[in-house]
Amino acid sequence: MARPRRRTRTLDPSFTRILCISAHPDDNEFTSAGTNEHTRDHTGLVPLRERESWAAAKILGVKDLVFLGYEDGALEPTLTMRRDLTRVIRRARPDVVVCGDPTVRWYGSEYLNHPDHRAVASAALDAVFPSSETRAIFRELLDEGLEPHKVKQLLMSGSLQPDTWFDISDTLALKCAALRAHVSQVGKGEWIEKMLGAWARRDGKRAGVKYAEAYRRFVLDRG
Ligand SMILES: [Zn+2]
Repeated sequence: MARPRRRTRTLDPSFTRILCISAHPDDNEFTSAGTNEHTRDHTGLVPLRERESWAAAKILGVKDLVFLGYEDGALEPTLTMRRDLTRVIRRARPDVVVCGDPTVRWYGSEYLNHPDHRAVASAALDAVFPSSETRAIFRELLDEGLEPHKVKQLLMSGSLQPDTWFDISDTLALKCAALRAHVSQVGKGEWIEKMLGAWARRDGKRAGVKYAEAYRRFVLDRG
């Protein structure tokens, strides 16, 4: 069978700021798998997961992390959450926001999408548009010195209708190493390479490269 035409994309090099919004500390590394707390109770888990997130961020070259402190497992896309995310966006002023797809209720017949993922993705989309760019929404943020900001592009991971692929053949190992840093969630993580490799191969097949990540992309500002 003929190999599909290579159709991966690269980010516009003028984009210097990328903000990833997710429900759980390891979602960005995992992309679309849910997190189950293994054996620990919650005492000490929050600071531990924050430390693990910083370790993963260091591996990936991520410059900053913001933890909003919501309770794991009980997230709702509230106005308060939307305001909190709007504050983060106006502070970070990203060119690109990466988040999940709030419309996906399940994947295949073995995984029901975690409600936290849907809640945060939903609030994130509403924060990107219209809250971040509209002066009249959350006026109290103006008092904090946070002027409106227009996000140029939105990338939704875990979409069932992806239209944009990035070649991650050179960075898959780094992605696996970053996920491995979330020790409290992945244990020894012997399965990480196999699992992330299989996902990346699946997406790579559609993109005509060895390993890819798939997104649905929205161009909100062509300027
Ligand atoms: Zn998660």
